[in-house]
Amino acid sequence: MANIWYIQVNRFCNNKCHFCSNPSNGDNISYKRGKLLIDDFKKRNYSWIIFTWWEPTLSSDLKNWIKYSNSVWMDCRIISNGMACSSFEYVKELKKVGLSLIHFSLYSYIEKIHDFLTATPGSYKKLLKAIQNTLKLWITVQLNCVINKYNQNHLDKTVKFVWKNFPQIKHFVWNNLDPLMMRKTSIAKSTLPDFKIAWENLIKWLSLLDFQNKTYRVERLPLCFMRWFEHASTETRKIVKEEERIVYFLDNREMVQQSWNYWEHTKLDECNKCDLNNICSWIYEYYKFYNYVKVKAQKLQNKEKEDILRKIKLNNFNN
Ligand code: SF4
Repeated sequence: MANIWYIQVNRFCNNKCHFCSNPSNGDNISYKRGKLLIDDFKKRNYSWIIFTWWEPTLSSDLKNWIKYSNSVWMDCRIISNGMACSSFEYVKELKKVGLSLIHFSLYSYIEKIHDFLTATPGSYKKLLKAIQNTLKLWITVQLNCVINKYNQNHLDKTVKFVWKNFPQIKHFVWNNLDPLMMRKTSIAKSTLPDFKIAWENLIKWLSLLDFQNKTYRVERLPLCFMRWFEHASTETRKIVKEEERIVYFLDNREMVQQSWNYWEHTKLDECNKCDLNNICSWIYEYYKFYNYVKVKAQKLQNKEKEDILRKIKLNNFNN
């Protein structure tokens, strides 16, 4: 079982992504607080710490926390937008203190779209440089991507682009857009995806990843929009494997233990007729945001259901 611990080390960023799910409140944690949190996770037997949200490389204590995590045999990684890692010297410093894995967030292979979504001109070029620097230093890179209206129809091309330019990258994390705390602007609202278009494209990019022998996870998509790839649903994996994660938020929520149903998921009438009902997380934030989505009950043979469970149990990759 892979239980993962996320620490928000700061709540400020050098990008301004329209759909940011934890917008800036200017806060950050002290070195001492971070160290106490690492000790706490260690006691709870968690597998990984992820330093994140929003931009851990802006924390002056990041290197010290990485060093400390390694000294107590706690694996750690960071999620980053790549701005700071566009400096080779900076990535070298992270490597020196023992960082071995970075998730970078790439939204599209099209420069104009990535820069539009981050609202930061030049962020795409810096990110590609960061990926090059990191791979050059033999640090593992994994890619995160938020599925949204502006990239939903060409994620297969993004996968091809990564395959061609960074074949060393083996694992991808796809997150359907989390609208709960995003900015209240009309541009932010315009990023909500069309599930049907995303689904039509998803079949192509997940098939491509299978063909390339890569691993992947998809979060916040109901299983009727992930047919034949159910084993990759983050929530379904949590239901089947009883995984959970703890997130330390830098706001009044503080420490939150999340199983798949922590956030608002809505079961619709159609779900009661569906053979995937007991391993599906239904629709996330249906009433406030995703009420335009139409789900469709699925019919499966027993053998097909058994195969989904088997694949989930066999596949142990983290996040
Ligand atoms: S119909 Fe409901 S239970 Fe079935 S896959 Fe879709 S969201 Fe899940």
